[in-house]
Amino acid sequence: MQYSDSVVDLIGNTPLVRLRSVTAHLGPDAPLVLAKVEYLNPGGSVKDRIATRMIEAAEQSGELRPGGTIVEPTSGNTGVGLALVAQTKGYRCVFVCPDKVSQDKQNVLKAYGAEVVVCPTAVDPEDPRSYYSVSDRLVREIPGAWKPDQYSNPNNPRSHYETTGPELWAQTDGRITHFVAGVGTGGTISGTGRYLKEVSGGTVKVIGADPVGSVYSGGTGRPYLVEGVGEDFWPTAYDQDVCDEIVAVSDRDSFLVTRRLAREEGLLVGGSCGMAVQAALEVAERSGKDDVIVVLLPDGGRGYLSKVFNDEWMADYGFLSTSTDRSVGDVLH
Ligand code: PMP
Repeated sequence: MQYSDSVVDLIGNTPLVRLRSVTAHLGPDAPLVLAKVEYLNPGGSVKDRIATRMIEAAEQSGELRPGGTIVEPTSGNTGVGLALVAQTKGYRCVFVCPDKVSQDKQNVLKAYGAEVVVCPTAVDPEDPRSYYSVSDRLVREIPGAWKPDQYSNPNNPRSHYETTGPELWAQTDGRITHFVAGVGTGGTISGTGRYLKEVSGGTVKVIGADPVGSVYSGGTGRPYLVEGVGEDFWPTAYDQDVCDEIVAVSDRDSFLVTRRLAREEGLLVGGSCGMAVQAALEVAERSGKDDVIVVLLPDGGRGYLSKVFNDEWMADYGFLSTSTDRSVGDVLH
């Protein structure tokens, strides 16, 4: 019989698929562009990898004990990963999220058995009602509480150093020449990139993709619409020595490529995937036939049906028409 003992054992070992249609304009001498399909993890995103590693490390260090509670300010993929692993090990999960997070996203976390505490968005971070203050207070007040903090937890990049990096090296038979990934906490690019640089003797080039306006590409954290990537501060999970280059990508390019991935490649993925692929295409344009470019696709597209895949939403922001291209700031304020 072929079966896994637990859903946690299904995390990682995701496949690589060649991108054919979105690379067609590059011609016959184009490099191979391969996508690492992370939505095939059981929780639907790359974050399952960090969840399992952060929990295991906290168990080993004694920070998380049987019957303990995981408290994290998260509304998305990290929450799903943590909830899925916690559930199989009998931990309680409490997630704190701002009230701008959609009911659908809160419901996904509840469906996995997590508790969700909603905080007002329109208050200062120091306000006792804020998302940050509430999560800190819950950690202090709940006996046996542990906060993973993906932004500073070294087991976030470590999980990628130990899994994503070795998988890519083995899957490409050591032929990978470029690794491209979006940067949020920085865990994916730092851990995977560091492994690939070490194993290749420094020949693999590591390219981060970042929304225009975010700090990684020299911005101040100005609003952008693509979710899960870009920051307005420098997290310690991000290792500034690993990236050879950061490519800034506009919301418009990110979303148009995301829609092409669904329609032309059969990959229904999130907006940060289109962003990373746009960066990979820019790298491919200046690469040779023997190069092998791998781009990591962090999550699936089902959570974005009312945004990226909705024509009216796209048109409201001017992303579908060439004439009425309003800036994000105009629409948000
Ligand atoms: N895309 C999505 C949808 C994400 O949720 C994340 C994680 N914040 C990323 C990309 C970036 O990954 P990382 O945090 O490892 O930099």
